[in-house]
Amino acid sequence: MPVIDLRSDTVTLPTPAMREAVFRAELGDDVFREDPTINRLEQMTAERVGKESALLVASGTMGNIVSVLTHCARSEEAILGDCSHIFLNEAGGMSALGGIFPHTIPNRPDGTMAVEQIEAAIRADNIHFPKTRLICLENTHNRCYGAPLTPEYTDAVAALAKRHGLLLHLDGARIFNAAVALGVDVRELTRGCDSLNVCLSKGLAAPVGSVICGSRNFIARARRIRKMLGGGMRQAGIIAAAGIVALQEMVDRLTEDHANARRLAEGIAIIPGLATEPDRVKTNILYIDLVDRRFSDEEFMARLEKKGVRLSHPGPARFRMLTHYGIGRAEIDMALTALHEVMQG
Ligand SMILES: *Cc1c(COP(=O)(O)O)cnc(C)c1O
Repeated sequence: MPVIDLRSDTVTLPTPAMREAVFRAELGDDVFREDPTINRLEQMTAERVGKESALLVASGTMGNIVSVLTHCARSEEAILGDCSHIFLNEAGGMSALGGIFPHTIPNRPDGTMAVEQIEAAIRADNIHFPKTRLICLENTHNRCYGAPLTPEYTDAVAALAKRHGLLLHLDGARIFNAAVALGVDVRELTRGCDSLNVCLSKGLAAPVGSVICGSRNFIARARRIRKMLGGGMRQAGIIAAAGIVALQEMVDRLTEDHANARRLAEGIAIIPGLATEPDRVKTNILYIDLVDRRFSDEEFMARLEKKGVRLSHPGPARFRMLTHYGIGRAEIDMALTALHEVMQG
């Protein structure tokens, strides 16, 4: 029985073209800046998102922590969403490793924070207060149904940051999903930020890696922080080779994942005992609520697992599904059939 794994888009396996590129990759020692494949990936990514420079890191979490540590000194404050991945899912790294103070603002259902609330959170110059240094946005917003933030919103936050002398970091783990969903050039979503993190190993299906992007000066400082965290990798062109294919071949097809997620949500919405909000599905992430309490959460997941369907469990009676490379229409229909059968059983 095939397993339809909807837990995350990180479960994607590399494409045949990626395996071929890995096999043929020209390599060198990247700590000496001598890996031509990494240099190429970094240059390509920087150009693609409209920044001067870029740096390959091991993961999205590493991309965010390296960026935040590069921007903020100990005791400084970062403003970020209360549902953001950095706040919820990165092991408190900014506090643990950087002594940086997180100041959360509520995320609205569309993944934004109210600009007035961000502004109100910026500290006055007063010796009692930490110094506000950074604002972090997340696009697409994982916890908010994969909502894409628009160029207009991002520009408004960037303008606010500029007015107050603050820096803006964009957790763009799925920034290409946002660009494709909105039908805009990705640079419209990145032009206002001082740094961003792009994941190659989510919907773009590379096996490993993220790239952080920013000014030449930012990346030079980030390179030292990456080394400090043990992230100076040697012949990591093995990783970069697959990342190059991800950028070249895997961006445009994200529209398929978005259409499949929408189809999945529309199918789930009519299954008695389950609830979801198809209209919120703009990219490849959806959440479902188990309204019918005949089964415990564990029982529900176990029954689905027996039918070959996996999803993740972010909270009580709440589940998450992501569509991705390897999940086609046929798999969506099979997953819907399995959900129907479980809810009837
Ligand atoms: C997955 C994810 C990350 C972290 O990426 P890892 O490679 O899993 O460390 C960061 N931000 C968002 C929004 C994510 O979804």
